[in-house]
Amino acid sequence: MSQRPYRCIHTDRAALAGRMCKWPAGTLVTWYLDPSSVPLGLSYSETLKAITAGIGIWPQVCGLQAARVNSPEQARVFISFRPIDGSNGILGQTQLPCEGLSNVQHTMQLDNVERWDADFLRRVVMHEFGHAIGLEHAPDGTVAVMAKYYDRSLDYPQPWDVAEAQKRCGPAPANQPTPAPKPVSQTVTLPQIPVNIQLDDGSTVVLTVTPTFSFSVERK
Ligand SMILES: [Zn+2]
Repeated sequence: MSQRPYRCIHTDRAALAGRMCKWPAGTLVTWYLDPSSVPLGLSYSETLKAITAGIGIWPQVCGLQAARVNSPEQARVFISFRPIDGSNGILGQTQLPCEGLSNVQHTMQLDNVERWDADFLRRVVMHEFGHAIGLEHAPDGTVAVMAKYYDRSLDYPQPWDVAEAQKRCGPAPANQPTPAPKPVSQTVTLPQIPVNIQLDDGSTVVLTVTPTFSFSVERK
């Protein structure tokens, strides 16, 4: 018997209403992991690391600012593992920041009896946090991490995902400008050179000359 495909329970209600859910511009999307609900098979630190990696991929592709906080009261997104439908089937569910709801705490719930490992969790959180910043499921047939069925071959947001994220969070930050190149200068001291000088009275003196020269170059 074939296994039911993994999917996300999110139901696209906002899409049906024709709204685009998003946080107000400039919102720092804070999140908190409930330490009392870590899944079997992963330690708290492993769980935290995987979730941080899954969330952290979004600020690389859009103007999202996200940060973990240490107190649940400060979190816009409260992440926990809860019973959903047993193993397989539904992996998680996450509320979208739809109009009028952006000031209330949202939840991301992950099914606590799935056989999570760090990589599986990271990929699923990447999808779920896409909802947390307002993305719907991608249309059927689209190759996207926001497809409703989990595709373990996708390790990174795809063009559809990036375009939708940028509609809500703005463009990805430009790479930090490299500072203007500073001239590099160097003074080189050459060996001392003895120079014989004959004076008018026929005597000879030896002067020791130390030539120096400097150069500067601009690093490309
Ligand atoms: Zn989903």
